[in-house]
Amino acid sequence: MQKYSLAIHGGAGTILRAEMTPEKERAYETALLAAIQEGESVLKSGGSALNAVEAAVVLMENSELFNAGKGSVFTHDGVNEMDAAIMCGETLQAGAVAMVQGVKNPILLARRVLEASEHVFLCGSGATQFAREQGLEEALPDYFFSEFRYQQLLEARAWGRVQLDHSKKYSTVGAVACDRQGNIAAATSTGGLTNKKYGRIGDSPIIGAGTYANNRTCAVSCTGYGEYFIRGVIAYDVSCLMEYKGLSLQEAAEFVIHEKQLALGGDGGLIAVDAKGNIALPFNSAGMYRAWVKAGEEPGVGIYR
Ligand code: ASP
Repeated sequence: MQKYSLAIHGGAGTILRAEMTPEKERAYETALLAAIQEGESVLKSGGSALNAVEAAVVLMENSELFNAGKGSVFTHDGVNEMDAAIMCGETLQAGAVAMVQGVKNPILLARRVLEASEHVFLCGSGATQFAREQGLEEALPDYFFSEFRYQQLLEARAWGRVQLDHSKKYSTVGAVACDRQGNIAAATSTGGLTNKKYGRIGDSPIIGAGTYANNRTCAVSCTGYGEYFIRGVIAYDVSCLMEYKGLSLQEAAEFVIHEKQLALGGDGGLIAVDAKGNIALPFNSAGMYRAWVKAGEEPGVGIYR
C-alpha cells in the first residue's frame, strides 16, 4: 500500500491581497479546508481516488464562493449553464457534461455518464434528461441565484464583454487524487464565463484540455481562460511530456503553465498528481485558490503566489 495524496483548486486569476478582506480570505480558506478534508476522509478509509475527487468537488459545488454548482455565474440570458468532467486514471474511463441546467451537482452527473452510459460527453437538454433518468437531485433557478453573480452579469453586459468570474478571476473548482492502491483521478466543475453566449463550452469538461487522468502519467485539473486551455490541450500535454519525454510531474506541469501557456497568451493554473503521490500546483496568474494534503501530513492551503 502506498501513501495517498490529494489536491484541489477553487480557481486562479487576478486574486490580489489588496482586494481581499480578512473575512473573505478566511471564508475561502475554510471552504478549501472543508473540501480537502472531505476528499481526504475518502482516501484515509481506503476509498478510491475517483470517489475522493468527486467528494471534494461536490462540497465546492455546494458553496456559493466558487463558480461551480450553486455559485455558478450567469450566461448572457441570465441562466446558469454548467460544465463538468471526471476521469479515472486506472481505466481511462471518463464522463463529461456541458451546458447543464438545473442539476444541483454537475460532477455527480459526469460520474453517472462515466458509470451508467456508453458515452463520454453529453450536453444541454440531453444531459439534463439523462440526469433525470438517473434520479439526480435537481435545483430550481433560485438555488443558483446570488445577487453578487447577478451584478457581475449586469456589469459584463453593460461592457459588452464575456468575462471570467470577476475581473480575471476564474473560480472553477477541481480535484486530483492518488489513492492507496496507486490509482489516480481528476475532476473539474464550472459555471464557465459570465455573460457567455451561443452555447459556449470551456475547457473544464473537455477531456485532455481541462481534465485528464492516466495512471501511467498524471491526473490534471485546470483553471483559467478556457479557450487557451482548449487550444493548448493543456491537461493532456502535461501527461504527454511525462509519457513521451520522461519529464517528472513537476517539470511537465511547470513547463506547460509557465512556458507553453504563457506563450499562447493564456493565464491560469492547474493541479496535478502522479501515481507515486507527487503533487504539482503551478499557476502563472497572481493567485490560485488551492489546498493539498498527503497521508500523514497536515493539509496546506494557499491563495496568493
Ligand atoms: N476554465 C473555465 C472556463 O473557461 C473558467 C475557470 O477556470 O474559471 O470555462
